[in-house]
Amino acid sequence: MAKLHFNYSAMNAGKSTALLQANHNYQERGMETLLFTAGIDDRAGKGVIKSRIGIETQAVAFEKTDDLAEITRARLANQSIGCVLIDEAQFLTRKQVRQLAELVDRDNIPVLAYGLRTDFRGETFEGSQYLLAWADEIREIKAICSCGKKATMNARVNANGEIERDGEQIEIGGNERYISFCRKCFFSADFISTESII
Ligand SMILES: [Zn+2]
Repeated sequence: MAKLHFNYSAMNAGKSTALLQANHNYQERGMETLLFTAGIDDRAGKGVIKSRIGIETQAVAFEKTDDLAEITRARLANQSIGCVLIDEAQFLTRKQVRQLAELVDRDNIPVLAYGLRTDFRGETFEGSQYLLAWADEIREIKAICSCGKKATMNARVNANGEIERDGEQIEIGGNERYISFCRKCFFSADFISTESII
């Protein structure tokens, strides 16, 4: 039986690397896969999944209005799909998480979604909220806070090293804008020296 998997973590925990490894494992067994990433995140180029350790691959860039089940079924006319993998899954809408659940339940295609659990305010993203609610399997990819504890939160830092507590949920930036913390450091910190941003 296919399952809907949600692999979540804080920033910089290696989600894209884990996704690309899982994709490689499917392909090594001769199975075709379909990869999606958020169109909104074009740091590596639109429709590119790039891991911080250097590997990258092409993916379908999804927008909020796309029907992911429809796109996948259209592909099935010309190819078999052993697995659907989603990067930046926090940017999915509630409706799109439903579409992924349908692919699992009706088409029997496993779906592996990778994304952040919470934003820089500590609030869940829409995609993460419904993946946490509806996934069959939920797994945490571990990241480490500078204090040594497990990092579960993402802080957004401005140019002066101050932690931002308000603003738009989505503001794409690389390592220079975000830092992952354990919950204790996340709630107590208000300033980060730029050297400690990794
Ligand atoms: Zn900490």
